[in-house]
Amino acid sequence: MDHAHAVLHDVFGFEAFRPGQEEIVRAILAGEDVLAIMPTGGGKSLCYQLPALLRPGVTVVISPLIALMRDQTRALREQGVAAGALTSGNSEEETEEVFAALDAGALKLLYMAPERLSGAGQLLSRIGVSFLAVDEAHCVSQWGHDFRPDYLRIGELRRRLGVPVAGFTATADAETRAEIGTRLFSAPPRQFLRGFDRPNLGLRFVPKNGPRGQVMDFVAARPGQSGIVYCGTRKKTEVLAQAMNAEGIRAMAYHGGMEAEERRAAEIRFQQEDGLVVCATVAFGMGIDKPDIRYVVHADLPKSIEAYYQEIGRAGRDGAPAETMTLFGADDISFRRAQIDEGLAPMERKEADHKRLNSLLGIAESLTCRRARLLAYFGETGDEGAPPEPCGNCDICADPPESFDGTEAAQKLLSAAIRTGEYFGAGHLISILLGEETEKVRARGHDQLPTFGVGRDLSKGQWKTIVRQMLALDILRPDPSRHGALRLTENARPVLRGEAVVALRKDRMAAQERRRSGKA
Ligand code: ADP
Ligand code: ZN
Repeated sequence: MDHAHAVLHDVFGFEAFRPGQEEIVRAILAGEDVLAIMPTGGGKSLCYQLPALLRPGVTVVISPLIALMRDQTRALREQGVAAGALTSGNSEEETEEVFAALDAGALKLLYMAPERLSGAGQLLSRIGVSFLAVDEAHCVSQWGHDFRPDYLRIGELRRRLGVPVAGFTATADAETRAEIGTRLFSAPPRQFLRGFDRPNLGLRFVPKNGPRGQVMDFVAARPGQSGIVYCGTRKKTEVLAQAMNAEGIRAMAYHGGMEAEERRAAEIRFQQEDGLVVCATVAFGMGIDKPDIRYVVHADLPKSIEAYYQEIGRAGRDGAPAETMTLFGADDISFRRAQIDEGLAPMERKEADHKRLNSLLGIAESLTCRRARLLAYFGETGDEGAPPEPCGNCDICADPPESFDGTEAAQKLLSAAIRTGEYFGAGHLISILLGEETEKVRARGHDQLPTFGVGRDLSKGQWKTIVRQMLALDILRPDPSRHGALRLTENARPVLRGEAVVALRKDRMAAQERRRSGKA
């Protein structure tokens, strides 16, 4: 892990960069002038906060939003980062404190309101400014919708300090961009305009149903294409690569347990050879810049929506169509939950990680366009802030799933869990619902429960699907202290009371299987 990733993780508590962030951070670290256009909510602040910690000296952040500056300095301080703000909202005492910290060389980030810039030149030349970060950079545009005359001073300040500038904005048409370019920068800056959408990537999620066969079928149907198959464990990368080679598919394994030299050799081979499949853990990909990767398969559910986006993003960099397929099942959900629960992070961060996992699961179990949900998560909207339009390039747009009102089924499952003390796993709960007289059911007297046999109208496979979706909806969660036992979350209460409708999708694995084998 390099410095930037270490800080991302240790200081900010994020496990992966969001789309676009890493490139911007690296450009700033390299001392380049940068103009970044990112959708709101895309994670702009991290793009200057992180390099601020890695560059020597103080980073000056100019923002027109006083409340935002105060929030950010407070949040940064809580994370142990030396940050201060000079705004009109300061008390005299606060201002004195900031000055003292600056003189002592004890600040890494100084937030400044634009109106404080006049007369600050001397102070700023003295303290050793690293770079200027300009939030809401479009405010410098006289023709924009949000012109702030004080922003015109930034150019002057830059000339005086001779430092790089990083401008950020969410709203900039070509004209405004050009104007920002001339007013903030001495030469055309490096521009980062990439929205989050990668329309050439086909998105697809498939419930696990014999995952090895599902991956093998997918890969075998695409001979001669370069692809990555991400696996949850090192062992699986080796087993899968071996199985592929045995079927005449050129494949290799890659994981962090391999010697550095071996890994390097594998990377070079992948870059140079066409039609090679890499079965890899997420250790693979950072240094890889192969434009014609035609697919990324996740043999196991990624750990977060950020990781998912980053990993599928390695396909189709040449802009030609590329495919992605993500397999997921109830076990993946339990595994990822346990990973979070067993980590060393503080409680609030664990809850935030669960929420991020929920967002990915929401896409996996989505009843509507997956890309629209993905883009909405990253803050990208359609025209005039409307939700993104259905994309036409995901499995749901291609073939909308059927849904059914699963409220009653969900209530039955929840009551089986409650009546057995939230002490059992999915298999046992399903046995109870189906009225199966297993040894365990009899031994515990669970054949006497009022819920015994109330779920006979559905098959075992259907119940498994329902359990998986309820895990994904975070209505049920595995209990970290009791292996496999399912507990109700606070989301369960409205379901039990009949206040929330649980819309579930009908899995169509069987139909897909038939189609696939029919083609072969
Ligand atoms: P913007 O200023 O672009 O509107 P923010 O900088 O406020 O967006 O970030 C939006 C949200 O995204 C914040 O809640 C922030 O904590 C979160 N965020 C930023 N970067 C990451 C990341 N790499 N991983 C996860 N969450 C992130
Ligand atoms: Zn779609």
